[in-house]
Amino acid sequence: HPSVPYRGRFAPSPTGPLHLGSLYTALVGFCEARRRGGVWLVRIDDADRQRCRQTHADGILRTLETHGLWWDEAVLFQSRRDEIYRGALERLAAGGRVFPCTCPRRELSGSGQVYPGRCRARYPHPPPGQHALRLRVDDAVIGFHDRLQGRIEQDLASAVGDFVVRRRDGLPAYHLATVIDDAEQRVTEVLRGVDLLDSTPRQILLQECLGLPRPDYCHIPVLTDHGGIKLSKQAGALPVDAAAPSENLWTVLALLGFAPEPALIGAKPADILDWAVARWDIRRLPSGRGIDVGGLAA
Ligand code: GLU
Ligand code: ZN
Repeated sequence: HPSVPYRGRFAPSPTGPLHLGSLYTALVGFCEARRRGGVWLVRIDDADRQRCRQTHADGILRTLETHGLWWDEAVLFQSRRDEIYRGALERLAAGGRVFPCTCPRRELSGSGQVYPGRCRARYPHPPPGQHALRLRVDDAVIGFHDRLQGRIEQDLASAVGDFVVRRRDGLPAYHLATVIDDAEQRVTEVLRGVDLLDSTPRQILLQECLGLPRPDYCHIPVLTDHGGIKLSKQAGALPVDAAAPSENLWTVLALLGFAPEPALIGAKPADILDWAVARWDIRRLPSGRGIDVGGLAA
């Protein structure tokens, strides 16, 4: 999109406080957007009411501010957009793209990741009771160019099969909410961890089904512990210490290969970020899928 101003986004799930891995993703997105003279947006991925908490959303936003990672425009909260997701699901249903699935999770677990298509032809109409909605995936080889990972192709039918767009509990699935909101925020580039690379073909197919524009994609390596496991709340990553923002920024910048500027060690976060943006070149990110943070992980 050469003539459209850059619009990037950071989309944390408020299932816990911000940890080093998410601070890193936020910093990379922020520096990239600022370097390109663009806009950096924040979206709170709290569609999943079971796992997300408002207090964590508040805490994450405060922590971003403390670190000088100021976003542009209003924060989008997925938990307030049920109506929008429902409308999109109705459009998919009207186009015959989705079907109800009543398969209990445990019965699908033997089939690996690929949905065997059991409910595809089973019901002409939604069955009574709780059911998920799956998007029909016919022969769709989806290819795209990722700015860091290069050419990616996935045969969706054999790799994923028909996938859930509305969960059994009625909540929108991650892929559906993501493509709708990336379009709503007019995101020109989705920059996120490489752990989500496999999600992108599903999201591109959904964009095509819903007539939404396809953004550019840039999947960055994720921070890992010594064993190569991605830092995450589930893996026990500690929250970043909001009392030491400058130190935290230098920690992340060091992982990205920046030698700290002695005059700026204890500087205000905004000054450290200005310094980083002035030297920013995303092509200097370490290659590969993970950056080992070693002892910093726990
Ligand atoms: N909310 C997702 C996460 O925290 C990121 C979604 C995305 O960037 O598409 O991992
Ligand atoms: Zn089923």
